[in-house]
Amino acid sequence: MPRDFLKGAQDEYDVVVIGSGLAGMTSANILGRAGHRVLLLEQHYKLGGLATWFLRPGGHTFDISLHGFPHGMVKSCRRYWNRDIADRIVQLKNIRFDNPQFSLTTTFDREDFTRLLVERFGQPSETVQEFFDTARGMNFYDDQTTTTGQLFDRFFPGRNDIVRLLMEPITYANGSTLEDPAITYGIVFSNFMSKGVYIYEGGTDDLVKRMTRELESNGVDIRINCPVEKIDLVDGRVSAVHVGGRKIRTRAIVSNANLKTTVLKMLGEEKLDRDFIQRAKDVRLNNSSTQVYMALKEGEEIDESSGDLFFTSTAEDFRTELLLSRDITSRTFSFYYPRTRPWKTKERYAIVSSTNANWSDWADLNEADYLASKQDLVETTIDALERYIPGVRDKIDHAEAATPKTFHHYTQHEMGASFGTKFEGLGVSRELPQQVGGMFHAGSVGIIMSGWLGAINYGVIVSNEVDQLLTSEASPV
Ligand SMILES: Cc1cc2nc3c(=O)[nH]c(=O)nc-3n(C[C@H](O)[C@H](O)[C@H](O)COP(=O)(O)OP(=O)(O)OC[C@H]3O[C@@H](n4cnc5c(N)ncnc54)[C@H](O)[C@@H]3O)c2cc1C
Repeated sequence: MPRDFLKGAQDEYDVVVIGSGLAGMTSANILGRAGHRVLLLEQHYKLGGLATWFLRPGGHTFDISLHGFPHGMVKSCRRYWNRDIADRIVQLKNIRFDNPQFSLTTTFDREDFTRLLVERFGQPSETVQEFFDTARGMNFYDDQTTTTGQLFDRFFPGRNDIVRLLMEPITYANGSTLEDPAITYGIVFSNFMSKGVYIYEGGTDDLVKRMTRELESNGVDIRINCPVEKIDLVDGRVSAVHVGGRKIRTRAIVSNANLKTTVLKMLGEEKLDRDFIQRAKDVRLNNSSTQVYMALKEGEEIDESSGDLFFTSTAEDFRTELLLSRDITSRTFSFYYPRTRPWKTKERYAIVSSTNANWSDWADLNEADYLASKQDLVETTIDALERYIPGVRDKIDHAEAATPKTFHHYTQHEMGASFGTKFEGLGVSRELPQQVGGMFHAGSVGIIMSGWLGAINYGVIVSNEVDQLLTSEASPV
């Protein structure tokens, strides 16, 4: 008989959270802590969504999306998780760039970027201050027609090198491009500039373990290997989820699954306004990624001067399409020293190379071509790394690649989207509760609500709305 992953789950809950990405887990935690009966359902065998890791023989652990986030994570984790988690967030001080236009090292904050823009790139300090203030002042209600490209043209016309310095890390952090609304850039860039780039010391496995413990202590019922197939409505309001051959009743649902999948598949077109459905269909997904994971043999080391996060590119200038091309010119290397997991007895060094990628370059390859293309990705990435760490090929114990298909496989995100949807997804996500009573979405959307901090903060916003709904209603299910 197949194992019953829902064993012990109740027949009804106040809230069902579909998906255990950072937004889903944060919503579940806040709602559990508020005293609601919460069921967290995850289709994968691990919690965390894209905040995940994997192990390989030889004592190697690889992190998928632990490369850097803004300082705001400290506050969000302290308030909505616990101090134990927040206190493990530490700064990455050694951010490097190398491309045909410039090579430099920075702490990636406003003070250091101001210095670089004035001294190295020759900009008047008033222009630089005004640029930072304009980016900082941007908010959701601003003009959404100005693009990031136009913002740069206003302050630094004709300076493709400056655009590269300012844009390349943000494209890496949330997939946004020069063509996206400038507010998506301004908000995320300013978040980083406030105090630099941070990381969780202990590794993603340690973080998710501590989050799981906190969820359990707040009474959240957690079930893995439980894909939700369908959502039932009664009189325009959510009534139940279908999962593992069972129908579990609920007063509210928070879906952390991909926005389009939530609306178009789990809810279904027939239950919603035509206009809303059309807007959901028109939402563009963000791009996907490829990664190459490399671990060093026992006893081999990387010098700390290699940096923490290293943005490299061989392209002569900065262009959006080059960042996504299968013909890779840009790679961001994350270096993981033993201090990433201080609790480990075996000292290990790992390097993860990440590049933004298009689903279409990988999805339709036949099996043989797919495997060959993956292997080519590994080999060319090691070649690229050799340029910075000569002899690294011989030090590598294990190397493998992930593609947009890998990200799709583990999270069910359509087209392997790494950063949810483009800007218009935010409006559709926010409107969902008006379309269907008790139905909410929390997860990477609209560029702004993506990445570790964006996802956690969106989980907070949505859980407050769910809490208000549940507490304002007297009648139980
Ligand atoms: C390669 C890569 C590198 C990244 N690097 C960084 C970085 O350095 N810094 C940063 O801040 N961000 C980074 N990100 C982005 C960041 O990881 C994500 O934005 C964030 O983790 C997404 O969280 P989420 O809550 O939106 O949900 P997700 O992590 O997308 O999780 C959604 C969850 O829902 C589950 N699910 C889907 N369908 C169902 C269903 N039907 N039933 C049950 N469960 C379901 C999935 O299995 C998954 O667990 C990176 C992403 C990628 C891919």
